[in-house]
Amino acid sequence: MGMTDAAYQKCINPGCGAEFDCGQAMFKCPKCGELLDARYNWDKIEVPSQLSDFGKRWATRNNRLDLSGVWRFRELLNFCSDEHKVTIGEGQTILQQNDAVAKYVDMKAGSLYLEYEGLNPSGSFKDNGMSAAFSHAMMVGAKSCACASTGNTSASVALYAHSCGLKCTVFIGSGRIAFGKLSQAMDYGAQTIQIQGDFDDCMRQVQDVCTKLGLYLLNSLNPFRLEGQKTIMYRIMEQLGWEIPDWIIVPGGNLGNSSAFGKAFLELKELGLIKKVPRLAIINATGADTLTDLVNNKKLVWNDGNVDQKIIDEYYDDLTAKNFSPHTCASAIEISRPVNLKKCLRAIDVCDGIVRAVTDEEICDAKAIIGKYGLGCEPASAATIAGLKHLRAEGVVGADERVACVLTGHLLKDPNVTVDYHKESQGPFSNPPIEVANDLDEIIKLIK
Ligand SMILES: *Cc1c(COP(=O)(O)O)cnc(C)c1O
Ligand SMILES: [Zn+2]
Repeated sequence: MGMTDAAYQKCINPGCGAEFDCGQAMFKCPKCGELLDARYNWDKIEVPSQLSDFGKRWATRNNRLDLSGVWRFRELLNFCSDEHKVTIGEGQTILQQNDAVAKYVDMKAGSLYLEYEGLNPSGSFKDNGMSAAFSHAMMVGAKSCACASTGNTSASVALYAHSCGLKCTVFIGSGRIAFGKLSQAMDYGAQTIQIQGDFDDCMRQVQDVCTKLGLYLLNSLNPFRLEGQKTIMYRIMEQLGWEIPDWIIVPGGNLGNSSAFGKAFLELKELGLIKKVPRLAIINATGADTLTDLVNNKKLVWNDGNVDQKIIDEYYDDLTAKNFSPHTCASAIEISRPVNLKKCLRAIDVCDGIVRAVTDEEICDAKAIIGKYGLGCEPASAATIAGLKHLRAEGVVGADERVACVLTGHLLKDPNVTVDYHKESQGPFSNPPIEVANDLDEIIKLIK
């Protein structure tokens, strides 16, 4: 089957703890219904004795696995043999020190870094997860796959599916998908099904469809996807010369990334490859702030895995009773029932994490600043800078602490939000086009 005997799957519920080999495609514990983790018997893996050894693979980039920003770290996600590993060149990202954006959030020059995950093949960080999950799909012999998506998952799944020869179906909510993302799903040849409902409705349907039809599920419930997303943290450290930043800031949607980041640091600490763990700040949009509410107001905590399910159930029952549907211009984080909630609580525990929510207005302003001074990003990504501005104002983050914000998706993903902000002069950083008669003198008068 091409499995490594070094990896297995384990239920995160300490009261269950069931273990399974990696040859099975499951997306929830068949015994208790909780999330599953990929786990490793580290003594069976030859993990390099220092992190800088991974960086040496830059010298052998003609090896496709060393070129991949995911598989360059393969010992840290060692669940399948090399023949099944899928890569289309994901993870060629850069960490940019950005002093102009630092100034906007009142940080000292030299302290703020932007991790541009929009540079991935499909334009979002999702590709890190897909290269790992599709490798698992190949290992278990999957023939067709599916996902629910706010947009980027479907774009990434569609791209990887056709490069692996898998059939793929993506489920999207009605009218809530950014045009860049929808155009990708269609152009990459995915069967695209638009459900009359929101993302949370799609998420529920896709799980039943996958169970009934035996399709391989590619949402972040899939534990192998999160294994690929751990590498975003390795690459941030790599670009800091293997130093550890003080803070990682990430937008929170379905909470796969935050969960993966916490797991990455937990494992590196266990392996003795790092001494300290950075703090994690997860940023919601105010119109989709389940995590913020549960953690800051309802005091929901990891508690060694014994999460108080009653608090979650009551909260979700209340959302249902109110017929609540999340709303934010940051469509990638427009989610009110995040599937990785419990793993995210674990990440908050591991990384002494905090959670904040920012308004759409704050997101759009931050996005314009990132665009003007950096490489640009989509709205959800800009929540990180909007959140950092809050954390600076509160004094939670110091002006000279070293902060890395994960810019999760490319600017071109959501042209509508960008054009509306600038053309309709919606904010202080709007940069609308100027209309002028077809006349040389008039035109010249305008040039500043
Ligand atoms: C998926 C996505 C998110 C949300 O990430 P989670 O891991 O689901 O919390 C944020 N930003 C972008 C651009 C995304 O595509
Ligand atoms: Zn279980």
